[in-house]
Amino acid sequence: METKEILLELRIKKGLSQDELAEKLFVTRQAVSRWEKGETVPNTETLKLLSNFYDVSINTLLGTPRKLICQCCGMALEDETISKEADGDFNEEYCKWCYADGEFTSDFWKKYAYLGGKDKFNEFKIQIMDEFNALNIEGMPKIESLNMLAGGYVNLEYRLPNGKKVKFLDDKSSYLGNQLECEFGEERCFGIVANMDFLLVCTYEENGENPELVVYKKR
Ligand SMILES: [Zn+2]
Repeated sequence: METKEILLELRIKKGLSQDELAEKLFVTRQAVSRWEKGETVPNTETLKLLSNFYDVSINTLLGTPRKLICQCCGMALEDETISKEADGDFNEEYCKWCYADGEFTSDFWKKYAYLGGKDKFNEFKIQIMDEFNALNIEGMPKIESLNMLAGGYVNLEYRLPNGKKVKFLDDKSSYLGNQLECEFGEERCFGIVANMDFLLVCTYEENGENPELVVYKKR
């Protein structure tokens, strides 16, 4: 579709007259009429306003001249998956999982759930739980559910026998995991964390104090 047809269609869909749209965009009715006849194309500033107003990307307004691809992860972009700036403008460089509200994210799991579908994501969770349960760790109850966890909250610092302290996770990533009561009724809890690549089991006291690593296993 050409820009003129797209603009006409969007306006009709919104139930606006040319006058009403012109008023909202601070342009003349003649300008709107010329766009819809294909005599002119809105300038860059007006395209931005239209994009924001109709919630479609500028690329779509221009008749999709470019195949948009996320510059971060490489996925093909549609209006529903294009990222936005904090002010609501589309950022046509990135997908909404790699970039959101003006910042890079690494919300891998949300993207996985979206692309793979809910069923596939659940299957993956079940597989991870089976792998945790197969570790048969003494005192750790059976795992029945996994939550999405922000790396920054579960990236505990472990003390190695040689006194060195290490962290295994990335604050900016998200993981699947849970917290479990110890079956022996001790003060310590079990924490489990996983992603595509590894399983981690640790124990800790209240608020993640004095963490101890139990298992760190590549998948
Ligand atoms: Zn991306």
